[in-house]
Amino acid sequence: MGKESKTKKAPKKKKKPVYIGLDENGDPPEFPYVRASESSIHNRGLFAAKRIPEDEYVIQYLGELVKKKESTQRANSQHDLSQSEDVGAVYIFELDDKTDIDGNFDWNIARLANHSCSPNCEAQNVEGEIWLVSLKEIKKGEEITFDYGYALEHWKDHPCLCGSENCVGHIVRKEDWGKLKKLKKRQKKTASESR
Ligand SMILES: [Zn+2]
Repeated sequence: MGKESKTKKAPKKKKKPVYIGLDENGDPPEFPYVRASESSIHNRGLFAAKRIPEDEYVIQYLGELVKKKESTQRANSQHDLSQSEDVGAVYIFELDDKTDIDGNFDWNIARLANHSCSPNCEAQNVEGEIWLVSLKEIKKGEEITFDYGYALEHWKDHPCLCGSENCVGHIVRKEDWGKLKKLKKRQKKTASESR
């Protein structure tokens, strides 16, 4: 006769988190091209520790693999936190239709890379991994930047301080720059008309 108690429910198994990019000991790899330091754009940033040739894998975006539903919840709470405390931001990276990478971990130093309107790197999906790849030769000491690719929707929440000549003033993906400029023009117009 089975003696298993029917009143005691087996504890709900919490799914073990799955991390991407860590070695078998759970340690992040070394990325000799970069170092973290104070940035004039925003908080800390990533800088070239040595000359980086064009089209080079600079650093991998490490993190936890999460399904879309879970990552949406995390993104919202990370967003709320960043609004209220001016710390952090949203570190969710889209991997594919079903899965995102939550990179909100100290050991994911790629999260420190700032956005720029004229970036020197690009985030690429390389066989299921996200890498920052250099778009041009980067001199030692130069800040590593990439296009965050934010949709136009929340442009007001994300002012850009990249300081590049062609800075559009907000962190918005390049495809939407035209729309952003029109939006701003219209707002300026309505503001002056309501005076
Ligand atoms: Zn900018």
